[in-house]
Amino acid sequence: MIKARLTERKKIRRLSELPQGGSCTAGILIEKNAGWRNKRPEVDPEKCVGCHQCYLYCPDGVIVKAQKGIVIDYDFCKGCGICAKVCALKAITMEDER
Ligand code: SF4
Ligand code: SF4
Repeated sequence: MIKARLTERKKIRRLSELPQGGSCTAGILIEKNAGWRNKRPEVDPEKCVGCHQCYLYCPDGVIVKAQKGIVIDYDFCKGCGICAKVCALKAITMEDER
């Protein structure tokens, strides 16, 4: 099973070949965020170049590739900040939850 998954992964050569939805299936939150998140990622569309590194690294698959850049599903984002860490252009900042 694992071997088969690795083989499938090797076939992907370009980011554009990855699915339009999240890069993985959500693993932790199975229901909408219940309000415990204290930080949320905010994307600066002026800085984002659509490299989709954040999409690849989000552990919950809540970043979706968009026509230009990304869209974050805040209903299921847990506010871990990994997306902000991996963005080389600092296009994502973690802001206090409103
Ligand atoms: S990693 Fe940064 S620049 Fe790349 S798509 Fe995400 S927000 Fe945009
Ligand atoms: S804060 Fe964490 S869960 Fe939310 S979009 Fe970024 S990487 Fe994904």
